[in-house]
Amino acid sequence: MKITHVGAVLLTPFPWVLVKVKTDEGITGIGEAYHGAGVHHIVTDPRLTERALIGKDPRHVDKLFHDMMYSMSASGFYQGAVMSAISGIEMALWDITGQASGIPIWQLLGGKFRDKIRVYNDCHAGNAETPESYAEKAKAVEGRGFDAIKFDIDPQPTERDRYNRCISNHDIAYFIDVVTAIRDILEPNTDLLIDAHWKYTPVDILKVAYAFEDLNLMWLEDPVPPGNIEAMAKVTAATRTPICTGENFYTRHGFRDLIQAQAADIISPDHAKAGGLLEGRKIADLADMYYIPVSPHNICSPIGTMAVSHLCAAIPNFQVLEFHHLDNEVWNTLTIERNLIQNGHIDIPGKPGLGVTVDEEVARRVAKEDLGFFD
Ligand code: MG
Repeated sequence: MKITHVGAVLLTPFPWVLVKVKTDEGITGIGEAYHGAGVHHIVTDPRLTERALIGKDPRHVDKLFHDMMYSMSASGFYQGAVMSAISGIEMALWDITGQASGIPIWQLLGGKFRDKIRVYNDCHAGNAETPESYAEKAKAVEGRGFDAIKFDIDPQPTERDRYNRCISNHDIAYFIDVVTAIRDILEPNTDLLIDAHWKYTPVDILKVAYAFEDLNLMWLEDPVPPGNIEAMAKVTAATRTPICTGENFYTRHGFRDLIQAQAADIISPDHAKAGGLLEGRKIADLADMYYIPVSPHNICSPIGTMAVSHLCAAIPNFQVLEFHHLDNEVWNTLTIERNLIQNGHIDIPGKPGLGVTVDEEVARRVAKEDLGFFD
């Protein structure tokens, strides 16, 4: 079997990047790359496709992953948009390999630990900036079957603190009031997650983390900027509130220092940019050596979400998978298979390969820029 074509499409309004890889035996693979400027152009760049993919057997996935990295630079070291593009192609190669072998992707990754993937709903914010509004939204989402719920509670700094990462006393009190209100209204067994989006100094976010300790959060995410693992480790070691981070790291090399320093209690790789599914398996295995759970960051369309679900099924230390698109009509109709998330869970497909199919009519309708995806 040989690869004959690599295409990509940028969708709208959310800029999802879908990837298609075609073969000479009529099998087509689908993947998704983390969105970002130019990612769909990188997916179809001849330096990647002509040098590493066209004419090659798509089933040698790990070798092609390495060939893709070396095709664009002698160093073979990539982060950012290039690694996002490679990640989306890698997923499509697994889809092809699974279809060609007659088995699902989770089987290719070592078999499954579970049939259902627990999904948390990211609610972003309340409808108003009041504790009552946040609590009301949390209760409504819990009522739709989710037993893990996340909110962004990262008040914007005032002009005074715009660049120093400090949190005003007012905002510390606000953080605590909102999170306490949400925690109080949820069932005891519903998990609550809070995202702080990298904004704060260790000393100030620790004031918040200490106040959260008796609220039994599943985690506080990205308390400090992602560039300094020692600062992250300091926060993690100082509080009983679990700390989660990881969506800004690429490949197992990017995660190595974070995991070895045990700088987070939970890691959240984004597999649509961190290197795809086999690299995700390797990152998860490294984390498991330190007994660290994996809760993937995920803002993908149903294609990337389902691809990552196969990985979540196949690793022992999976905890919970992110989901952002409740009531998003495009998310809910982009695959032929519908209702992929029910009662806060994804049922792992048993069909060969990815196990879901793009509804190309819907994809065409929301396509912003097509680079050979519909060929
Ligand atoms: Mg986040």
